Amino acid sequence: MRRPQQKHRWIAHMDLDAFFASCEQLEHPEYRGRPVAVGALPGHRGVVAAASYEARKFGIRSAMPVSEAYRRCPDAVFLRPDMEKYRRASRQVFQILETITPVVEAASIDEAYLDVSGLDKLLGTPGEIGREIKRRIFTGTGLTASVGIGPNRLIAKLGSEYRKPDGLTVITPEQVLDFLAPMPVANLRGLGPQTQKIFGRLGIRTVEQLRTAPLSRLEEHLGKKAAASFHRQAFGFASDEVVPERRRKSISKETTFAADVRDNDVLHDALRGLAADVARTARREGLSGSVVTLKIRFEGFETHTRQYRRDTPTHDERAIFKTAWQLFLGGKLPKKPVRLIGVGISGWEEDQPAVTQADLFDQPLEKEDNQRVLQTIDAVTEKFGKGMLQLGVPRKTDS
Ligand SMILES: [Mg+2]
Repeated sequence: MRRPQQKHRWIAHMDLDAFFASCEQLEHPEYRGRPVAVGALPGHRGVVAAASYEARKFGIRSAMPVSEAYRRCPDAVFLRPDMEKYRRASRQVFQILETITPVVEAASIDEAYLDVSGLDKLLGTPGEIGREIKRRIFTGTGLTASVGIGPNRLIAKLGSEYRKPDGLTVITPEQVLDFLAPMPVANLRGLGPQTQKIFGRLGIRTVEQLRTAPLSRLEEHLGKKAAASFHRQAFGFASDEVVPERRRKSISKETTFAADVRDNDVLHDALRGLAADVARTARREGLSGSVVTLKIRFEGFETHTRQYRRDTPTHDERAIFKTAWQLFLGGKLPKKPVRLIGVGISGWEEDQPAVTQADLFDQPLEKEDNQRVLQTIDAVTEKFGKGMLQLGVPRKTDS
């Protein structure tokens, strides 16, 4: 009798272990075996962006204030992040992943999804593929990675978190329900502190409890959309799509207002946030652009764009914001309520260190200080998401 053909895909999630700290330990043998905390330096405000496993033994964690980390282990090696170094290592790792399969999607500087379906003839079972991924990364870079492999992205990601560091966890479709059951609901995707509180009030701590809770009750407290999402996840359903990155022509972000905006202060703040998003994406991808584009849509779908080519490419949010704001003020745009505002950069000068135009700033920074500030911001946001840190752009609408 023929068995029904397996229809699912195999998705792998790769997560480099204590990535920033490991890069430093690789470059400096004297740091190996020692607690290393990358981020702000003791005596300064700021947080730890990454801690080596030796540092974690002292309870040092990422997102912890550096003062607290210092209190826990004054002998730790405290280092400023060197994002250029980490990006170089990251690029190397991604090149290695592409020797496994071209279907690689970067999730962050140290995480990737791979579609490893159909590689059995070439590389063997999912377990063998996982070991091969880890082996190639280690021999090529000296870094260790944790890998999870399962039928979709959620299970793969939870798999890579399951055993760390240097872990490998394979979850077959048959194992998915048992694998998920004892997990804290906090491990599911898209669960913020608010939702966590709601689950707490409902007495739902594990995925198993979530699974048995009536959907109508979840909907009542979480809303239809969120309830459906968590319910699906509790049963192990998630996307198995891996989208390899294409070389992009531009990076842009836009926002649509719920109601048309007349207030320049609101537009100023929105544009500032968008510029920060654009700059961060550009820095993550090692891109600097010299063309800044402003997009404005007024009521009635009337859309205008304005562009300005800077003398020097940039990936600095203040420079992008300032240029965009000047385009807004000086672009001879109609004085009408604004429905949508967006900003973008293009005109790449790839992998060139950006020269920031100090004269565009109200308070010019030395180039080196500036790079350091941006790197710290990137190191923190790479790990904890945006909104944690933002550069201060003076709140003025007439500049
Ligand atoms: Mg990692």
